[in-house]
Amino acid sequence: MCAMPSGPQVRFLCDQNLGRLAKWLRILGFDTEYMRRDSDERMRRAMASGRIVLTRRSSTPPSTSVHVIVHDRVQDQLRQLGMIYDLSPGASAFSRCTRCNAPLEEAQPDAVKGLVPDYVHATQASFARCFSCGRIYWKGTHTMRICDRVKSVLETIRP
Ligand SMILES: [Zn+2]
Repeated sequence: MCAMPSGPQVRFLCDQNLGRLAKWLRILGFDTEYMRRDSDERMRRAMASGRIVLTRRSSTPPSTSVHVIVHDRVQDQLRQLGMIYDLSPGASAFSRCTRCNAPLEEAQPDAVKGLVPDYVHATQASFARCFSCGRIYWKGTHTMRICDRVKSVLETIRP
């Protein structure tokens, strides 16, 4: 795990063209809503509640609460955001469901027996579960790879 204190405080709303970015921001621990259909009303409500709106719509007038994402690839999108916000994987990374954005809660190994592959149950000591959709997460080698990948993306914007 990437060990760094302080959790992300910024909250986002991603538009319908930024599904992959939304997933990555959730992995990093950011409260990130995803808008499946374009909705000015939803964007307004998100901004009123203090969310930062991320959109591909280039006609959107930029403001402190809206960022027009100009890149196609998610790595470049993360890099663009990383110039504005601290996206370093911190203590909050992997604390949120990538599917539905709900916070994860710790689950005991006994509670997930039969719900994860046997070899995972046998080799992992800690699990987390999304109480909204029921998806179960554990710290595998892929979480290390994700941390490394995000770090390598963000390193390219640091002098
Ligand atoms: Zn979920």
